[in-house]
Amino acid sequence: MIKISKHPFPYKAAMSLSSDVEFMTWKAQLEIFKIFEKYRIPVAHSLFFFATNFLCHSTFSYFLGTSGKLSHEAPEIRDKIKAGLFDTIHAYGDFDGGGFTRKHAELVYDECVKHNLSFDIFTSHGSDLNSQNIGYVGLQNAPYHGDDVNHESYHADITRKIGVRYFWPNSSALMPKPYSKTPILELRKSADGVDHVIFNRYRGLVGKAAPNISTFAEQIEFNDLLKLIKVQGTCIYYQHLGVWEKRQDGSFEENRPPYFTKEGFERIEQIADLYHSKDLWIETTGKLLRYTETRDNLSFFYDKNTKTINLNVSNIPDIKYQHFNNITFVIDKIFKIFNSNIIPQAINWQGRDLPFEVFDTYRYTYLKIKIGN
Ligand SMILES: [Zn+2]
Repeated sequence: MIKISKHPFPYKAAMSLSSDVEFMTWKAQLEIFKIFEKYRIPVAHSLFFFATNFLCHSTFSYFLGTSGKLSHEAPEIRDKIKAGLFDTIHAYGDFDGGGFTRKHAELVYDECVKHNLSFDIFTSHGSDLNSQNIGYVGLQNAPYHGDDVNHESYHADITRKIGVRYFWPNSSALMPKPYSKTPILELRKSADGVDHVIFNRYRGLVGKAAPNISTFAEQIEFNDLLKLIKVQGTCIYYQHLGVWEKRQDGSFEENRPPYFTKEGFERIEQIADLYHSKDLWIETTGKLLRYTETRDNLSFFYDKNTKTINLNVSNIPDIKYQHFNNITFVIDKIFKIFNSNIIPQAINWQGRDLPFEVFDTYRYTYLKIKIGN
């Protein structure tokens, strides 16, 4: 038997944090990078290119307001994008009072081309006046026009060109439990006739304020993580890491020192322990989604003569070499013995060899593709 492992060896389950950027100050963002770095947990974040501050009063942005001029933080933001610390465009900005047009996406596109920047993910934001949000054909009660070619907010074609592959429409795309069997990815038709890949997130606290720092430990229950490992599931936790709390009067307090509550820090430490003990794979959302999509669309055949596993991928138009990273094959050792010590010498895609690592356990041999760090 040769088969594809559900998760990269040796992990049993996978999780990611996916945070919408509203209210995040640049100072808080820099501190939060440091916190996850300290615990050695890979987390990538979302950003606004424009900020109207209509409701989200404190959020940093790449451009100054909606002007198209660079903000003070822009060069540093670019470095962080290149370092993989931002993988998500959060609706281009907080257009909670309206005002988005295609021109905004064009400014972003020019900047991305100029500096060789790309993103994996686009998430929808806020009020119905955010006409730039992207849903899909058949999504109810969503006045979204980002993929509507006849609307001034149309930008889906531009957004795909800067790498975006995965879309989060709104709270219609939620998992009931972190360990439920809901697939993470779903294929839907966009209004401009393209197969869009929608992803699902888990939002705890049904009936309560959206996830924020004050409830971090409550949203991510330790027992849920153990159940996630038990069912070998995948979960993307929906977050608002820029919000300390939602006040009684409905207003929001931005995140500030110490950036997590005591319980929050304890939970992060537990998550880090599960990751470093190799039970739970933590990955940035973009990379986790790429991995999941590649795995789910992968077929292969083993060529006995050349001892090569040959890969074929269907349904992913923009598949790239590095998207095979972490794909793991499992070979049953009994099968190996009875088939004259079958062990592939190479893994190949479109005539290119993919580097891999070999791990032996008592029953199985694992071949894990390892591209880059
Ligand atoms: Zn938002």
